[in-house]
Amino acid sequence: MKLKEYRKKRQFDSTPEPRGSSAPARKAGGLLVYVVQKHMSSHLHYDFRLEWRGVLLSWAVPKGPSLDPVVKRLAMQTEDHPLEYAKFEGVIPAGQYGAGTVMLWDRGTWQPENADVDASLQKGEIKFTLHGKKLQGSWVLVRTRGFGSNPARSTWLLIKHRDRYATTKDVTQEEPRSAASQRLLAEIARDEGGDIERASLGDPGIKARRTTPLLSASGRIA
Ligand code: MN
Repeated sequence: MKLKEYRKKRQFDSTPEPRGSSAPARKAGGLLVYVVQKHMSSHLHYDFRLEWRGVLLSWAVPKGPSLDPVVKRLAMQTEDHPLEYAKFEGVIPAGQYGAGTVMLWDRGTWQPENADVDASLQKGEIKFTLHGKKLQGSWVLVRTRGFGSNPARSTWLLIKHRDRYATTKDVTQEEPRSAASQRLLAEIARDEGGDIERASLGDPGIKARRTTPLLSASGRIA
């Protein structure tokens, strides 16, 4: 387990995020979890996570994934997260690390395309197939900087490979809702006691929704 950094950053009596068990049970069948969490904190980003060796390897992707193979998306590796985090959708309270609203934007399973995943990670080029609701087919993460002393601070690129799932459709704009609850960020914030207006900055079409009952119900929209 490599959750020391994850736990050090968080106060588990104040945040609803999971602490993570010390010895998570491996599921029979061996399917590896994949999840993308859309996270409106100090800035909007998409946390891309792949289960490996009992934790979720994690990258923060500021612009989110692109289904267009010519588009390379910056992905900054962050601390490993506990497997239980793959189920988390909700609000991280103000004052806590990553304070803001978290949406389960996509989830499913993944398969490495190379036999030796550890060697691929070491080399900084991991090819994989995603079986999500929004992201599918073949992808690659390529490390560009930060190799060496602190791999959890390295910079990678997330790129879609050419296959039948490749398209120029803007998936982050066209499919903005939770894969788990179908809620927008503002709706998650509303339901879980978060900052609705701040969360709504991460939802598309904010101007159009200014007149919807969701926001006028807060009494803050004239
Ligand atoms: Mn995040």
